[in-house]
Amino acid sequence: MKFIADGMLGKLTRWLCMLGHNVKYSNKMDDAQLIMIAKKERRTLLTRDLELYQQAVARGVNAFYLEGKTEADRLAHLAKRFTIKLDIDMVTSRCTRCNTRVKPISKEKVVDRIEKSTFSHYNEFWECTKCGQIYWQGAHWTKIRKTLETAKENLDHLNKK
Ligand SMILES: [Zn+2]
Repeated sequence: MKFIADGMLGKLTRWLCMLGHNVKYSNKMDDAQLIMIAKKERRTLLTRDLELYQQAVARGVNAFYLEGKTEADRLAHLAKRFTIKLDIDMVTSRCTRCNTRVKPISKEKVVDRIEKSTFSHYNEFWECTKCGQIYWQGAHWTKIRKTLETAKENLDHLNKK
């Protein structure tokens, strides 16, 4: 499943990348470009712009109009529609900057590339093979896990409707 997200969905794009999905995103593409790329690369267009959604559908592009007020809510709607698993597995996770798969990297190799405190606190690291961004499951992961738990609860509600 490949997606393309409109310029308003930067945050959601990062979530989908972490969850291992291929999402093209740029806030510099206009509606016509988004529709063209979606069609050419067979990507599903994600948008919160009803007009764009209708245009895309009229041109035979797979599109999904995103409901939900919070990230957790939007993730629940996406999970329901596309059967997306709301758990992060670093084996399939993608770089939130450039949509490339991340790979494990040994601790010794990141010593000069991260803060000392991070180095002393964590042992597992991942690297984006394209842009070089280093990832680790730091303090912010508490928040990430919490949002995913909320998304799962929201999904349960949606499924009961
Ligand atoms: Zn990257």
